[in-house]
Amino acid sequence: MRTPFGLGQTKPRHYLEMARVAWQNRDEGGYAWRILRDGVCDGCALGTSGLRDWTMDGVHLCMVRLDLLRLNTMPALDPAVLADAEALAARGSTALRGLGRFAHPMLRRAGEPGFRRIGWPEATDLAAARLAKVRQHDPTRAAFFLTSRGIPNETYYVAQKAARFFGTPHVDTAARLCHAASTVALHRSLGFGAATNSYTDWLDADLIVFFGSNVPNNQPVTVKYLHYARQRGAEIAVVNPYREPGLERYWVPSVPSSAVFGTDLAQHWFAVDTGGDLAFLNGTMKALLDLPGGVAQGFVERSTEDFTTVEASLRGTPWSDLESASGASRAEMERFADLLCAKPKTILVWSMGLTQHRHGVDTVLAICNLGLMRGLPGLPGAGLVPIRGHSGVQGGSEVGCAPVTEAATLDRWAGVWGFEPPRGPGLAATGQIEAAADGDIDAFWILGGNFLETTPNRERIERALHRPEIRIHQDILLNGAMLVEPSDTVLLLPATTRYEIPGGVTETTTERRIVYSPPIGYRGSEARRLGESRPEWEVLCEIVSRARPEPAEALDFADTGAIRNEIARAEPRYAGIEHLEQKGDQFQWGGARLFEDGRFATSSGRARFHVVAPPADRALEEGELFLSTRRGRQFNSMVHQAQDPLTGLDRSDLLINADDGRARGIADGERVVVKSPVSQIELVARFQPIKAGNVEAHWPECMELLPWSLDPDSGEPEYGVRVRIERAGA
Ligand code: SF4
Repeated sequence: MRTPFGLGQTKPRHYLEMARVAWQNRDEGGYAWRILRDGVCDGCALGTSGLRDWTMDGVHLCMVRLDLLRLNTMPALDPAVLADAEALAARGSTALRGLGRFAHPMLRRAGEPGFRRIGWPEATDLAAARLAKVRQHDPTRAAFFLTSRGIPNETYYVAQKAARFFGTPHVDTAARLCHAASTVALHRSLGFGAATNSYTDWLDADLIVFFGSNVPNNQPVTVKYLHYARQRGAEIAVVNPYREPGLERYWVPSVPSSAVFGTDLAQHWFAVDTGGDLAFLNGTMKALLDLPGGVAQGFVERSTEDFTTVEASLRGTPWSDLESASGASRAEMERFADLLCAKPKTILVWSMGLTQHRHGVDTVLAICNLGLMRGLPGLPGAGLVPIRGHSGVQGGSEVGCAPVTEAATLDRWAGVWGFEPPRGPGLAATGQIEAAADGDIDAFWILGGNFLETTPNRERIERALHRPEIRIHQDILLNGAMLVEPSDTVLLLPATTRYEIPGGVTETTTERRIVYSPPIGYRGSEARRLGESRPEWEVLCEIVSRARPEPAEALDFADTGAIRNEIARAEPRYAGIEHLEQKGDQFQWGGARLFEDGRFATSSGRARFHVVAPPADRALEEGELFLSTRRGRQFNSMVHQAQDPLTGLDRSDLLINADDGRARGIADGERVVVKSPVSQIELVARFQPIKAGNVEAHWPECMELLPWSLDPDSGEPEYGVRVRIERAGA
């Protein structure tokens, strides 16, 4: 029954939560309002300019953005609290964040109990001297990692240039942990690692399919787009082990009818095993081969290559193999194929449920195969969308913040920069961790992020943070990774937020839109400057220039406008970024739709099919279940609410099918021990509509269950593991 406002049901209480955020920011209410009104959201990569977007009329705002607001308005942290690192480390990351913003450079040496405040001159002298020493010995023993916490394109660009000027190709971003598999696969298949269509296409689609994605939690305004798409006749399908409540029905607070009665979302559900999507996609394509119109023959012949190899492979694969590897029946795969045929304008959307596996690249290649088979790239109301959870991750690698670059790109940069960048492939973020833990990195420069809570294998991460002779953290907030004792020296350098950077900055959204975010006036017209915090790009330029002084002008940028001018020359897709200087200024590289002319960005101009198959070693043994990690009300590893308002579940809950629970003598709500090959933890079993054989637990709390296991093609970690479960105390 539909009760007004979903009263009595499990759902977000948006208006109450907004009131909580307003109260939280009451000491900086005017500044908080100006950030919302004028800034580009620093949450996910859906993208805004102030409270508007380019897809719909009306307000674009969600609780993710509101929950992040306090990071931008909070007062400075008292540097004295950092004197005892061990005591702080015991407090947990939520408490550490609550201490306030970094406002002063801090230094800790090996053997000291904590940090002491120093001035910028001492900090930059020390960092420059130590980096110069590393460079003299071997510059490739330095690594640079940048997270995605609101970091703009200008900072990513400067960081990768600074790293290469220093002499190391080891530069990477947090996208390695979420969508690296998408970037690699899309490049191989289509030539560009980005969504092929615009959000406006969602409103014209016949069908929108979500694979391993929970947009109501992670990109909430997407649901508003879905509300309008449904009104215009689109249908929604979900391929996932868990029937996500937020994708069944959602209450969009800024649409009156939806706020009162809710919007019904998905009509079509396809249950697959965790990691079974690849086989499900192959089975769907196998079924399409025999359906009239199942293959977009003209498109495939005109614009692709290697289709016949894939066709032969699919025809030769027995249905029984596809059923056992996907967890779905042949009938279900045929049902999905029929749906695709009935709804030609289809948008395929995916998230980390597909990418965070050892076969993540292959799975995304399978989704590309399906998209090509259906002729989706370039078709109005259709396309392929790796939806991005963080505002920095699309632009970061596009402006060069990635360890592997093609020779032609390096040649172009050498021409623009006036120096020769290192040619060898660099280490991805996960490779940097391995190298640092093995003692092969002497200088580790980390902008934002918290490896301890975002990456499996705590013991290895602690070693990776401990061993480098100098570790530099540039950040706005304190986290546990900073508190790991150094073998020699650790520096904490206070950074500005994106709204505090003079000259303004840009980000690139999931739909390839490069958007300008102006500096936000603070008690007057000037941008805020908290204590001694400085823009990350400025500090990178100063320190690295001093570590390698020749040629002196290499890292000499007057302001962010000068950086944008150079990006326009260094990255042709970004030509036009140099003209962005006012709120609302933006453009989409590649236009509204990529490949509309049927030409792809590959060397041949044709998109490439790839033969991909599920890994052979994924079958579960008797008694095993496959655990995957899930997000609740959080942003990256920052948990904003202990109870997920969409599911009603707590952070310590394990989602389990009732049959799997009863088969183990476990009752709903009972404490259980979850054992993986590397560790065990206690959780509370909750019977949920999840496919038998699969369980889910909240991340990062369940992180210690995960082994260190990487996709060999992308270096992306697998965030799942096979487990055994029994009653606690049994
Ligand atoms: S949906 Fe994403 S971009 Fe939009 S307001 Fe929310 S966090 Fe920001």
